[in-house]
Amino acid sequence: MSVKKEKGLLIVLSGPAGSGKGTVVKEILDRYPADFCLSVSATTRAPRPGEEHGVHYYFIDKPAFEERIGQGAMLEYAEYCGNYYGTPADYVQKQLEEGKNVILEIEVQGALKIKERFPDTLLVMVTPPSFSILEARLRGRGTNTEEDIKNRLAHSRWELSNLERYDYAVINEDGRAGDAADEIAAIVASEKKRTCRNKDFARIFFEN
Ligand code: 5GP
Repeated sequence: MSVKKEKGLLIVLSGPAGSGKGTVVKEILDRYPADFCLSVSATTRAPRPGEEHGVHYYFIDKPAFEERIGQGAMLEYAEYCGNYYGTPADYVQKQLEEGKNVILEIEVQGALKIKERFPDTLLVMVTPPSFSILEARLRGRGTNTEEDIKNRLAHSRWELSNLERYDYAVINEDGRAGDAADEIAAIVASEKKRTCRNKDFARIFFEN
C-alpha cells in the first residue's frame, strides 16, 4: 500500500517569563530528536552573554529585519519590549514538508497571528503551577530589578488572560520539565491522529 508521507505539525509554545518553557523545549528536543525540531527566530535585540548567532537567534539589525518583512520572508513577527522578533518562513516550511514537527517558541501576539494564518497550528501554553510560584521563580533568579519583576508579572497576567485561545495548557512543575515534555509529545501524537487532520484517509484507504 502506498502511504502518503505524513506532514509535520506546526506547534507554538508560549508561556510567561518564569514558566520554564525554554527548558521544556530543550527536553522535547533531547527526548524526541527524530520527531521535533525548533525554529530559530530572528530578532533585533542585542545578544545576551553566551547567546550565539544562528543557535539562539539570528541577530539582525532593524533595516535588515524590515527588508525581510517586505519580502514576505517572515511567517509572523511581533514587537516585544521595543525589539522585533520573527519566524523565518523557509526553514519551517521545509521541515514540515519533511515530516518534522516544528516548534515555535514565541510570545502570545505572534502565536495568535500564526493561528489566524494557519488554523491547523497547535497552540500550547506552558504555565507554572500558580501565580505565586511564577512570582517566586522570577524573584529566585535574583537578576531582575523590582520594577522588572512587576512588569513581567503584569505582562504574565495579560498572557494568561489569553489562555482560552490556546488549544492546551501544560503545567511545568518545579524540576519536572521532562514530564511536561512527555505530555506535549503525547498531545502532538494524538492530535496527528484526529480525523480532521486526516481528511484524505478514507480516499487513500479505498484506493489501496
Ligand atoms: P527574549 O528576548 O527573552 O529571548 O524573548 C522575548 C519574547 O519573545 C519571548 O516570549 C519569546 O518567546 C518571544 N519570541 C522569540 N522569538 C520570537 C518570534 O520569532 N516571534 C515572536 N512573535 N516572538 C518571539
